[in-house]
Amino acid sequence: MAELKADVVVLGAGMVGVGAALHLQKRGRDVILVDRHELAGEETSFGNAGLIECASVFPYMFPRDFGQILQYALNRAPQARYRFSDLPTFLPWLARYFLASSPDRALHSAMAELPLIRRSLIEHEALIAEAEVPELLRRTGWLKVFREQATLASAASELERAKTYGVEGEVLDGKAIAAREPHLTGEFAGAVYFPAPGFIPDPGGLAKAYAALFKRKGGRFLVGDARTLEQTAGGWRVNGPNGAMVARDVVVALGPWSDLVFGPLGYSIPLGVKRGYHLHLAPRGNAVLNCPVLDSDLGYLLAPMNRGIRLTTGVEFARRDSPPSPIQLERALPRARALFPLGDAVDAKPWLGSRPCLPDMLPVIGKGPRHAGLWFDFGHQHHGLTLGPASGRLLAEMMTGETPFADPAPFAVERFG
Ligand SMILES: Cc1cc2nc3c(=O)[nH]c(=O)nc-3n(C[C@H](O)[C@H](O)[C@H](O)COP(=O)(O)OP(=O)(O)OC[C@H]3O[C@@H](n4cnc5c(N)ncnc54)[C@H](O)[C@@H]3O)c2cc1C
Repeated sequence: MAELKADVVVLGAGMVGVGAALHLQKRGRDVILVDRHELAGEETSFGNAGLIECASVFPYMFPRDFGQILQYALNRAPQARYRFSDLPTFLPWLARYFLASSPDRALHSAMAELPLIRRSLIEHEALIAEAEVPELLRRTGWLKVFREQATLASAASELERAKTYGVEGEVLDGKAIAAREPHLTGEFAGAVYFPAPGFIPDPGGLAKAYAALFKRKGGRFLVGDARTLEQTAGGWRVNGPNGAMVARDVVVALGPWSDLVFGPLGYSIPLGVKRGYHLHLAPRGNAVLNCPVLDSDLGYLLAPMNRGIRLTTGVEFARRDSPPSPIQLERALPRARALFPLGDAVDAKPWLGSRPCLPDMLPVIGKGPRHAGLWFDFGHQHHGLTLGPASGRLLAEMMTGETPFADPAPFAVERFG
């Protein structure tokens, strides 16, 4: 069978892989983008809440407050729950997550990621313009509503802290919430509104538009199985139904499935997952949701997607491949219906996806130190839609010997020993 040659094979056509492929192509590399699906953005990059979260300076760390930890331990918090039978498999990972969440380590993660967060929307704006899909970026910002005075106060002080890093935001009272989102109903202590983040009303569609741009510019997007990756004398080979694809360099951008490649190559990287669900519902009558709304104390989000109102859940700690258990979604549904006029479900069943996470909530971006031509770009946790193109730029700059726009050291795989 034919053997296709390129400079680089990028494994995984989610937002992260597509972002890397486009940035490598921009730097003159002949790239083959490989996925097990025929279309890009069919997995985690399809199902997210659509936020280009350039206001999210502080990553989602493990809580340090005892009351909150107890709620989590008792499986009562709507923001996070765990699958009891999977506990032995992810408990060691949770312990590492807890340790990485101390105030100074959390600040280290935040500062390391800040240059990427600041670059995130700029990179998307450039690609969206090039891909000629302006309708896929809405400049709505987003809203976090709070039911409790205490959580509002803590969010307001977090906002003040974030403002010192350039984040814009304002605290809203009930009247201001109603002015912004007239169809919301509830007893709110208040809200925080972030005007800068972008909203993508079809995240899977955006990945597909970027993949189409990549193809238009001469890139090849082919079906293949990353698990067939093998090192050869001159580089790497991966197999697909139409033959083998070979290149000197390979980029592992398989999101939550990246272990299927780095594991057999002998790397022990603590990649875990935080699973999440979504379901689309039709708005009732002429009800309109202007921007994504997080019902913070009740732990779910509503986003006005092209397909309908997408209800996304908080975090479920479970094995990536365990069967779905959409309890959070079932609990959130009546609360969401009370918040906003929602009609029938548009989807036949809930969607389940896995946020790929390292314990320090930083991605792995950079060289696989024990293999020539092996590069990693995965583990973008809650922010892979946001960070895909910015990470792609950083990785491509490293691969082509340019001066990287951000310090890549905190993302190196060597941090895990
Ligand atoms: C409920 C939820 C809400 C979220 N909300 C947001 C948000 O608002 N903003 C934000 O920035 N992020 C959000 N995220 C996180 C974001 O979706 C992820 O971080 C991001 O999609 C990860 O992208 P990725 O390209 O690394 O992985 P993926 O999109 O999963 O891509 C990995 C690709 O690898 C392919 N693959 C897997 N195995 C193989 C194989 N053997 N061979 C070939 N290909 C293979 C898959 O088909 C897939 O296309 C959310 C996540 C969830 C679950």
